[in-house]
Amino acid sequence: MSSLFLRTLREDPADAEVPSHKLLVRAGYVRRVAPGVYSWLPLGLRVLRAVERIVREEMDAIGAQEIHFPALLPREPYEATGRWTEYGDNLFRLKDRRGNDYLLGPTHEELFTALVKGEYSSYKDYPVMLYQIQTKYRDEARPRAGILRGREFLMKDSYSFDLTDEGLAESYRKHRAAYVRMFDRLGLTYVIVAATSGAMGGSASEEFLAVAETGEDTFVRSPGGYAANVEAVTTHAPPAREVEGLPAAQAHHTPNTPTIESLVTFLNGADLGRTFTAADTLKNVLLKTRRPGGGEWALLGVGVPGDREVDMKRIEAALEPAEVALLDAADFARAPFLVKGYIGPAALAANGVRYLVDPRIVTGTAWVTGADKPDHHVVDLVCGRDFTPDGTIDAAAVRAGDPAPDGSGALEAARGIEIGHVFQLGRKYSDAASLDALGPDGKPVRITMGSYGVGVSRLVAAIAEQSHDDSGLIWPRAVSPFDVHLVVAGKTEAIAAGAESLAGELDAAGLRVLVDDRKASPGVKFADAELIGVPTIVVVGRGLANGVVEVKDRCSGERVEVALDAAVARLVDVAGR
Ligand code: ATP
Ligand code: MG
Repeated sequence: MSSLFLRTLREDPADAEVPSHKLLVRAGYVRRVAPGVYSWLPLGLRVLRAVERIVREEMDAIGAQEIHFPALLPREPYEATGRWTEYGDNLFRLKDRRGNDYLLGPTHEELFTALVKGEYSSYKDYPVMLYQIQTKYRDEARPRAGILRGREFLMKDSYSFDLTDEGLAESYRKHRAAYVRMFDRLGLTYVIVAATSGAMGGSASEEFLAVAETGEDTFVRSPGGYAANVEAVTTHAPPAREVEGLPAAQAHHTPNTPTIESLVTFLNGADLGRTFTAADTLKNVLLKTRRPGGGEWALLGVGVPGDREVDMKRIEAALEPAEVALLDAADFARAPFLVKGYIGPAALAANGVRYLVDPRIVTGTAWVTGADKPDHHVVDLVCGRDFTPDGTIDAAAVRAGDPAPDGSGALEAARGIEIGHVFQLGRKYSDAASLDALGPDGKPVRITMGSYGVGVSRLVAAIAEQSHDDSGLIWPRAVSPFDVHLVVAGKTEAIAAGAESLAGELDAAGLRVLVDDRKASPGVKFADAELIGVPTIVVVGRGLANGVVEVKDRCSGERVEVALDAAVARLVDVAGR
């Protein structure tokens, strides 16, 4: 350590919010260069390389073949698939000296497809799985949490090319199994969640989420083992009810009731002969949508039961790939029929605004909702009688306690970090590129593809997020930068010599040893050892005179004295070498 390129910090970096970010910076693993752009220092690079090796081994084990594309890419292939525009602001674009457009690859579907098309032509060539471990660039809106969400980051992306749907299912299954093995080896606690609502057929897309309170992804799970991204949870629609005999809709003067809360309070004080809750009200939220990458915005009304928040992420997922935004003041000014706080289905229908509702809003349900004029609401507005939505949308926030779609009980909410994604792409990219194989009968067969990503650099942070304490990092052995952190605690020559010879023996036994030979106090050395997080710490100090060293387990905190002549065998054993 006296020569290691490392400076640890006592203070958390000012911009760091999550533990992995704080600790990786404090322990000298990474350094920030720009928002979302980080350098890897010696310790960090060792961990990154260890993660990368495990990812690579598991990809090779399923027969995927590694290649390497450039990160600097021409515009044309992305133009052909529409993603040059679809990617929007997330794409880093640049021009060469001749004025030609280039981009820094955010993901490489186009390149893989074009490559396979160039090399392969016969059905005998297939199936094939290719992958790379490559630096990706995305101009993320909110680069945060250090390397968890970078603008430059390392990703393993692979692609499968098959002749048949069954072939694709098999390639998908292999990748899924490889991911299970790699994340198990990395010592992570994770869940596999359905990422799409299943409209494309069940397991067409799944995400691997490392469970962490600081994760950006919320997921829900059921007692029966169902787990899904909140975006993918489908709301069960109750059966339609009889409309006949329901009370007629009535408009009421409800002064100063622009919010659900004020409305409910007013209604309950208005002597209407019953009690109302927020769940009896229908909240209408106005949005605008447009085709990806531009074009005209169109208004969209979304109705949800008033006791639920609208979840923009669910709406975005439901409308993908269209863009969605909230209305601004100018939009409201252009549509004077929208009376803020009192918007009802009537004005939307009268003005040709598409109106989608929560699946719980079925025919025969009665609602209190806006009457489209200030300070007025309608009571007993019945779906299917007084208004007819254009369709349903899963827009309402999912709540813990909601019934699980698998019928096994109530949903529980948790948070996670997306570490991997497996996705049956189908023929989107092969269609765009006309990627065909010549079949046995001489007819072309359109190739079907899968795409599979792992956030290699993000994994380093995800592991740190799951494995640390107040004093610092605690690496799982599989990715630790060293096997043993040897602290030289004492100034005598005997201690220095003893430490050096022990380090030599450990090294000869195949262990990677970090020796703290600095001229610093034992207190400083112990603190740094805890911060750096090598799983086994050996202290060579005063005990040496009695022929013992101290072995400390970084994770459990357990310390034992071990006879010097038994130390090597013991440490080799602990390190599992
Ligand atoms: P997210 O929802 O977190 O933005 P994504 O859906 O955009 O992820 P993919 O395009 O599927 O991610 O990329 C594959 C993997 O790359 C992800 O599962 C994730 O682990 C990793 N990844 C994506 N974006 C980033 C980023 N900005 N920084 C680090 N890793 C990332
Ligand atoms: Mg993303």
